Amino acid sequence: MSLNDAKPSDPIPDWIVTAAQDARQLLGLDDGWHISIKMVDHPSGKPEFNGVAFVDTAYLSVRMELARDLKPDAEGHRVIMHEMMHVALAGIFQAASYGFNQLPKRARKVAMKVYNDAEEMAIQRMTRAMQRAIVPKQNE
Ligand SMILES: [Zn+2]
Repeated sequence: MSLNDAKPSDPIPDWIVTAAQDARQLLGLDDGWHISIKMVDHPSGKPEFNGVAFVDTAYLSVRMELARDLKPDAEGHRVIMHEMMHVALAGIFQAASYGFNQLPKRARKVAMKVYNDAEEMAIQRMTRAMQRAIVPKQNE
C-alpha cells in the first residue's frame, strides 16, 4: 500500500489503511498495483460520493479518493471494499473497452454506460455478500 499522495496535513486514518490492506489482500491485488489514497471532502468532486477509484490498467496505478467523513463502521468498510473491487475488475473493464472502442461514438457511450451500471450493481452485490461473510468472523 503506497500512501505517497498523502500530505502531512491530510493523514489517512489508521483504520482506512488497515481496511484497504485487508481488502487488497482478500481480492489478491498484488504488489504490482500502485494504490494511493487521498482523503477529500467530495470524491470526484461529487458530494453524493463516498469514494472513487481512478484505475489506470496500463500503468497498474490506482488513485483512490475517499470522503474525509467516512467512519470505521460497516458502511465505511463497505466503501473501501467497493473501491478495491473496481481495481479487481479492472481487467474485465479493459477487455470490454477494447470492444467498445470499435463502436461508433454514440454506441460506445451507451455501451460504456450500460457496462458501468452493470459493474456498479455487481460490485454492490458482491461487496454486501463479502461483508456478511467477513463481519461475523471479525466478531468471533
Ligand atoms: Zn463503484
